[in-house]
Amino acid sequence: MRLLVVEDSPDLAASMLHALRAQGHAVDHAADAATASAALAVADYACVILDLGLPDGSGLDVLRARRKAGDRTPFILATARDQISDRIAGLDAGADDYVVKPFDLGELAARVRAHARRGQGAPAARLQLDGIEVDRAMAKVWRDGVEVHLTAREWALFDALLGARGRVLAKPALEEALYAFDTTIEGNAVEVYVSRLRTKLGPGVIETRRGLGYVLP
Ligand code: CA
Repeated sequence: MRLLVVEDSPDLAASMLHALRAQGHAVDHAADAATASAALAVADYACVILDLGLPDGSGLDVLRARRKAGDRTPFILATARDQISDRIAGLDAGADDYVVKPFDLGELAARVRAHARRGQGAPAARLQLDGIEVDRAMAKVWRDGVEVHLTAREWALFDALLGARGRVLAKPALEEALYAFDTTIEGNAVEVYVSRLRTKLGPGVIETRRGLGYVLP
């Protein structure tokens, strides 16, 4: 899933990016409100983690502007312990959830997964597909009852297809799911990962729609 972390503390941002990327997410980072607003205007995120105290303003203004523009992306606020009034204002402004610093990175990742799923209209964590069972919350897959180990990027691509289940995803959308802004994309990366997923999960799990993209039937 593609995520945006808005956080101006370099250490905290680095540990959040590390933890979320290790789970196979493509994560962009913005260290101020202006960069966050610019990123949100052009990219489609599954979830945003938003710090409220930013060097050029409040994260609340970023959130309010997105909601005013009709953006329904899930937002999780990262707030300080003494920012109770900000937390309330944030929820009133349309935030979906909050965590209180210092938060556990594993818990943050779990909340991100839950909100991103809800944002895609698919709250059920366990899915059954033709011989394949998937636990999206745990990022685990079983084929005929045997667990299949996917790499972070294989999972990122598979998860994007799961989120769009039944809908064809074009190659650029899958590339976006695979990589953050700052990563170079190999021209055939999507084909390579689809091929690896077919080897691991079975040839019929992902269908190619020639000229259109890929779909989980
Ligand atoms: Ca801050």
